[in-house]
Amino acid sequence: MKIICIGRNYADHAKELNNPVPEAPLLFMKPSTALLTEGKPFYHPDFSSNIHYELEVVLKICKNGKAIQPQFAATYFEEVGLGIDFTARDLQDVCKQKGHPWEIAKAFDHSAVVGQFVSKTSMPSGHIRFQLIKNGIVVQDGNTEDLIFSFEYLISYISRFFTLQTGDLIFTGTPAGVGKIAIGDRLEGVLEGEKILECEIK
Ligand code: MG
Repeated sequence: MKIICIGRNYADHAKELNNPVPEAPLLFMKPSTALLTEGKPFYHPDFSSNIHYELEVVLKICKNGKAIQPQFAATYFEEVGLGIDFTARDLQDVCKQKGHPWEIAKAFDHSAVVGQFVSKTSMPSGHIRFQLIKNGIVVQDGNTEDLIFSFEYLISYISRFFTLQTGDLIFTGTPAGVGKIAIGDRLEGVLEGEKILECEIK
């Protein structure tokens, strides 16, 4: 399986990091070794002193597809969940300055945390409100109605370049409020009022 992530898909987050709002989806990938599941703790690596959380809605791909037309894209995912795109911001800033790829800052081991997945049919109205709670305080509060590129557009766009396969995950971008983690932090992800993700930093 592969993990495809979208950068800068909420205008308020692009702004907080002084990035332009993209004209086309900004893609990067994480390998399967980046995945951290089932509420396991995240062990803070020593190569970064500024790892940020980024809470994102995650789509779980349910069938194989290539060059998917937008009008059929919704049939390629049945479940949604929450994930944290851990980002070594200090390493990423150096990569960005040098014009280098982001992998060491974005795709390291356990940098893609996912919680439980829920049926998308349980979502009211199509829009999803989601929050990251850090040590009991809400630090990110997003709503997919603010997405720059919709889930359907992303699936169609991604599948022009990369065949999507059952089990692939798409991290759809983070809203404003990203910040640094520290050892001892407890992160919780809430989707439409239901806690479906937990991760302790060790
Ligand atoms: Mg992200």
